[in-house]
Amino acid sequence: MRQIAIIGSGPAGYYTAEAAQKQWGEDVVVDIFDRLPVPFGLIRTGVAPDHQSIKGVSRRYEAVALSDNVRFIGNVTVGEDVSIAELEAMYDAVVLATGAPYDKKLGLEGEDLAGVHGSAAFVGWYNGHPQFAGLDPDVSGGHAVVIGNGNVALDVARILAKTRGEFAGSDIVGHALDILQQSRIEQITILGRRGPHQIAMTTKELGELAHLERACPRVDPADLPDEGEDALLEPGQRKSVTHLRSFAAIPESHRADKDMEIEFDFFASPRRILGDGGKVTGVEVERTKLDGGRAVGTGETYVVPASLVVACIGYQTSPIPGVPFEESAGRFANVDGRILPGLYCVGWARRGPSGTIGTNRPDGFSIIERIVEDLASGAAKGGKPGRAAFDALAEQRSLKIVRFRDWQNIDEAEKANAREDSPREKFVDVGAMIEAAKR
Ligand SMILES: Cc1cc2nc3c(=O)[nH]c(=O)nc-3n(C[C@H](O)[C@H](O)[C@H](O)COP(=O)(O)OP(=O)(O)OC[C@H]3O[C@@H](n4cnc5c(N)ncnc54)[C@H](O)[C@@H]3O)c2cc1C
Repeated sequence: MRQIAIIGSGPAGYYTAEAAQKQWGEDVVVDIFDRLPVPFGLIRTGVAPDHQSIKGVSRRYEAVALSDNVRFIGNVTVGEDVSIAELEAMYDAVVLATGAPYDKKLGLEGEDLAGVHGSAAFVGWYNGHPQFAGLDPDVSGGHAVVIGNGNVALDVARILAKTRGEFAGSDIVGHALDILQQSRIEQITILGRRGPHQIAMTTKELGELAHLERACPRVDPADLPDEGEDALLEPGQRKSVTHLRSFAAIPESHRADKDMEIEFDFFASPRRILGDGGKVTGVEVERTKLDGGRAVGTGETYVVPASLVVACIGYQTSPIPGVPFEESAGRFANVDGRILPGLYCVGWARRGPSGTIGTNRPDGFSIIERIVEDLASGAAKGGKPGRAAFDALAEQRSLKIVRFRDWQNIDEAEKANAREDSPREKFVDVGAMIEAAKR
């Protein structure tokens, strides 16, 4: 019987469990650990609350989660409640699927001012991640700046722009909805170091900006390359750029009906966050130009006023004691997912923060192949006690474990607590989750 520990219950964790089942059938036992009492990682705490169909992907993991040889062990932080060395001694293979939960730093003067947030914190706040539920961002000023030209920047801008009515059907948490309802933001500026052809924004997410109730997107036509150059783009990117062209063509008469603007400021590299009395007041930006695809500063600077700044520039994995870490890439040091024989990584913990939910599936399958190789060659040792040894340790340490059936109780309670126009009201506090799990 193979004994596999997977650390992290996001997409990469569940795809790895699915691959283990496909490989070994009944001859494998898989324990999936998570530091939260609730599963599914960024599907719950990252994917936008108004994108419910994407969040629904988690239902595909239930067949695996509910099978007899797979167990969810929630509310256990690996590296604190149990060490990697302990797990390596107990399981034939330990797979880190811990994602990339922390914000990359901007590395700019002023980034610690009040009112400046990273997207992990800001997105975690509106999605009810217990670690960020208390963020309480100040939306009483008029101007928000969102740094970054990827889909996370679009999510943040859209959430800041929506009216209460536009959140119908979403599972945005009540505390965020209440604060956003008081928002006085009239202008959202999305800063991108490079130009329209270099965006990492997908067509669907860009297109949504054209249909917001009170906000209108704006692109400066002067920032757009000659239309003929769009032919050089791959088809998805070309469609995204077509949206930017249509935003540039929106007539002023249409804008007059809207009381909020989402402005794309391209070729704009943040240099310094400015503040007064400890609070952010603006972002000093340097105009850039492209040089061989790279953004280089032109020396021309200007200030974009800001009462709120959200930096959506990427994430990093959090190191775990005893696991080699590649500081520059913000992920575990690995070769094709192998950290050492017996210790592996998948998903964002392996690759860094890029790719969609589906990108993690081949990762999970390829890591199981690697584990098979290592066990066959003797590089990794099999025949370990696995689950029974962990259960003994958990009892000795009095760990308060939350199982998948307990999560289903939490799920039911969240659905029962939902506002009228929402599928659920999430618990945002670990204690409340554990309380609901027991029912
Ligand atoms: C804001 C945002 C929006 C996104 N929107 C989309 C989208 O619309 N569509 C799409 O396809 N993709 C989207 N993505 C990308 C997608 O979420 C990722 O590809 C995917 O979640 C990565 O999976 P993962 O399993 O590697 O990590 P995660 O989903 O982050 O899962 C990691 C898990 O590990 C747990 N963990 C971490 N450390 C420990 C520890 N020490 N001990 C125990 N457990 C631990 C965490 O609690 C978490 O549950 C989005 C990402 C972000 C950030």
